[in-house]
Amino acid sequence: GSLAPPRAETVFRSTLLDIAIPDHLPLHDYVLERLAERRDRACLVDGATGETLTFGDVDRASRAVAAGMRAALGVRRGATVMLLLPNCVEFALAFLACSRLGAPATTANPLHTAPEIAKQAAASGATVVVTEPAFVDKVRGLPGVSVVATGAGAEGCVSFSDLAAYDAAEHAAEDGDGLAAAASDVVALPYSSGTTGLPKGVMLSHRGLVTSVAQLVDGDNPHLHFRDDDVLLCVLPMFHVYSLHSILLCGMRAGAAIVVMKRFNTLRMFELVKRHAITVIPLVLPIAVEIAKSDAIDRHDLSSVRMVISGAAPMGKELQDILRAKLPRAVLGQGYGMTEAGPVLSMCMAFAKEPSPVKSGACGTVVRNAELKIIDPETGLSLPRNQPGEICIRGKQLMKGYLNNPEATAETIDAEGWLHTGDIGYVDDDDEIFIVDRLKELIKYKGFQVAPAELEAMLIAHPGIADAAAVPMKDDSCGEVPVAFVVTSHGSEITEDEIKQYVAKQVVFYKRLHEIFFVDAIPKAPSGKILRKDLRAKLASGFSN
Ligand code: ATP
Ligand code: MG
Repeated sequence: GSLAPPRAETVFRSTLLDIAIPDHLPLHDYVLERLAERRDRACLVDGATGETLTFGDVDRASRAVAAGMRAALGVRRGATVMLLLPNCVEFALAFLACSRLGAPATTANPLHTAPEIAKQAAASGATVVVTEPAFVDKVRGLPGVSVVATGAGAEGCVSFSDLAAYDAAEHAAEDGDGLAAAASDVVALPYSSGTTGLPKGVMLSHRGLVTSVAQLVDGDNPHLHFRDDDVLLCVLPMFHVYSLHSILLCGMRAGAAIVVMKRFNTLRMFELVKRHAITVIPLVLPIAVEIAKSDAIDRHDLSSVRMVISGAAPMGKELQDILRAKLPRAVLGQGYGMTEAGPVLSMCMAFAKEPSPVKSGACGTVVRNAELKIIDPETGLSLPRNQPGEICIRGKQLMKGYLNNPEATAETIDAEGWLHTGDIGYVDDDDEIFIVDRLKELIKYKGFQVAPAELEAMLIAHPGIADAAAVPMKDDSCGEVPVAFVVTSHGSEITEDEIKQYVAKQVVFYKRLHEIFFVDAIPKAPSGKILRKDLRAKLASGFSN
């Protein structure tokens, strides 16, 4: 037979040079590496009370909590601790304490139901749950689990402040054996958002997270340039990897202050920005939409904000342009992450210390010290620039694997180390990545494919529409047709026909909306993603206006 030469792969790299990454360090030592210079600088600020912990305080308190967890609860290297907390300073302290002990921290949404939490606790083998008094009842009685409660008044629990009162120095001697976490040990066990199915437990190692943080904030020309005089807003939930990684860990590594906000509220957020002169706002689409649609923004001074980062779901060009007009002083851009990818794949190059120009709608350029390729989902062959296909990434930042699921791991990370994201996108001539949508969520109209994200971006840009989601509806002649769920703006009287025509004027025939369903709210995960599976189920059960 013919010996065709092996087909060369098209591999995309960062436009920034690779850097040396200290990936032998345990995560807490890595993020606090420059402690000596920063002891007296603000690290964590409680948004509600203004109470501030310096880097020195955070170092001391996390050592004390580690000593307390070890002495009072027997937490040792390899024992899993569940953090079931809304955003609070204790989350950060407990997370660092776990890292010090070599104990993986599995993070969970405290609004989950008791059975959901029990399932995660059992799957991850958690022996300790750290939670707020308000959620103690959800975990009381879990077999073999001790409960730690922040705040007072939770009966039968260990109090977090008692743990924080331990004398770390006194316990230092006995710590010796338990503290040497290996770089390959799991440090965090976050769960994916559950957008497409059940949330999956993802094992992230010290090495993986150190690499991923370094890819963004380290080097002479950091890709994501957080400065030590920056003040970051932390309103995204720390139990989701976006906030844990890109706010908490990146912020601490860079020496920035982090203002912790427990619950999102537009006006409270604007007030916090003013009070603390916040300079960086990482957000998700629903918050971006709130800001874009808010009149109150014009009455607040947000001039301190220099950077607005959006991630976790596709942000269309339309919304990005509206937001840019509302926050003219801030650089606005996107990052692209996936829990399994460690989590960040790409980041906007306008956030670099030496920035380069970017386009609206792009979700960044691949991070340094990593490789990215786009493959044809049918053939698996790599594709050149400007051709959409499945995004794959390779590097030391990737997850170790799914928890208790080697088959799923093997389906996601191939034998050559490439992680297959399930996202469809392309890389343009300037190395910018554009995400079309998720492979599994494309609407299939006869032979054509329609990306829900494109229709949603268009719908949200309409002043009469507050929120929207597009999904496929079964159709006898076309297979699937695009339909939309729409939340109208307050006082808007927009009709189904008007919405259909508004879209029809902007798109090719097969992307037209066939039906509009008016609803009060679009179901979303806490990471801001539309739960389209819930909407599809609604349609299947015969929902109509
Ligand atoms: P599950 O895997 O449980 O169904 P999930 O994929 O939503 O949930 P995450 O790991 O939180 O869980 O999210 C990763 C996904 O989010 C990516 O695969 C991608 O589809 C989407 N995403 C993240 N950032 C962006 C972005 N900037 N633009 C478009 N999509 C994004
Ligand atoms: Mg996913």
